[in-house]
Amino acid sequence: MSKTYRITLLPGDGIGPEIMAQARRVLDTLGARFGFSCAYAEALLGGAAIDATGDPFPEETRQLVADCDAVLLAAIGGPKWDTTDPDKPRPEQGLLGLRKALGAYANLRPVRIFDALRGASPLKPQRLEGVNLLVVRELIGGLYFGARERFYDEENAGAGGVPGQRAYDTLEYREYEIERIARVAFEQARARRGKLHSVDKANVIETSRLWREIVHRVAHDYPEIELIDMLVDNTAMQLINDPAQFDVIVTENMFGDILSDEASMLTGSLGMLASASLGDGVALYEPIHGSAPDIAGRDIANPLAMLLSCELMLRSSLNEPAAADALSNVISNILAQGWRTADIADAATPTDKIVGTRAMGDLIVAVL
Ligand code: NAD
Repeated sequence: MSKTYRITLLPGDGIGPEIMAQARRVLDTLGARFGFSCAYAEALLGGAAIDATGDPFPEETRQLVADCDAVLLAAIGGPKWDTTDPDKPRPEQGLLGLRKALGAYANLRPVRIFDALRGASPLKPQRLEGVNLLVVRELIGGLYFGARERFYDEENAGAGGVPGQRAYDTLEYREYEIERIARVAFEQARARRGKLHSVDKANVIETSRLWREIVHRVAHDYPEIELIDMLVDNTAMQLINDPAQFDVIVTENMFGDILSDEASMLTGSLGMLASASLGDGVALYEPIHGSAPDIAGRDIANPLAMLLSCELMLRSSLNEPAAADALSNVISNILAQGWRTADIADAATPTDKIVGTRAMGDLIVAVL
């Protein structure tokens, strides 16, 4: 009997609905070929949810994501909802609330270079030789979740005791939060090439010193893994200078956010990087990019990060490795044939054939 998976879809804002439409078509096509079907429940998150309900993470969405086999998110946010007023709802609160509600503490971001896209990276092709890395980012702790406040300080906010506004954010980590993300990273390193870079700023900040201590303690359980500490500023440089040295990188929330966007450019575009967020409950799959408001509604967004997120979902949550392999192979083949969305096209390569979001979906569906 054919299996049916219950998937909650969160198309979100900007290019979100455009790339989600392609994900749905591709999943249905894979289901028909590999003998499963997907029952979708679509829910609101982010700006679209604020417009409809005033809440970036409405109760109905909260219930749907808690009771399904996997959650697929496209992207949220946009200038329409940008505000510096701390009392106004923001789309990002929906995203952070979703990750927290799912207990999704481990965000896995594989950086995979497709041979055909070497020319699309701003780096020289020889620097990309052997690059295959995984960023393991702690997702529900640290600066993005700590206490924060903005207030008017009557006393001495400004230089010389002049009153003015003041704001702070708190970066906090607990031992167990570091230990559980470290274990995920060591397990990933064990399944890969056995090398783990733990990235911190232990020369300056206290949370990083705790991070380093805990990671080294966990390392005793993984004697076969080579553990290297690296400061975050050096890592930012090394990712460009010698990206092939990395196998698995584990780091805290904000460092991981920034470093993985940087690492995405090795692949040629932010539109190529997928992620899986795993933890205590239902897993969440999403591209690492945002809602790209600058190109929304124009049918030019790259749907591949969204489709590669589907590949991760098929592998990790749905246990459909044959379908995941087929999708991965088709994407490689389509790229090898020169098909590109605008963001990964190389002006110097005349064989590149530029297509839109939907046409890229058409090509993949046709080959599948
Ligand atoms: P962004 O990732 O949306 O876009 C950065 C640049 O990359 C833009 O030039 C955009 O056109 C391009 N880009 C991104 N995805 C692409 C794709 N699939 N195909 C082609 N080009 C693509 O980041 P931003 O502009 O800093 O943020 C826009 C909004 O997205 C903001 O509101 C931000 O808060 C939000 N955001 C959401 C998420 C998320 O939903 N997970 C992540 C990051 C940013």
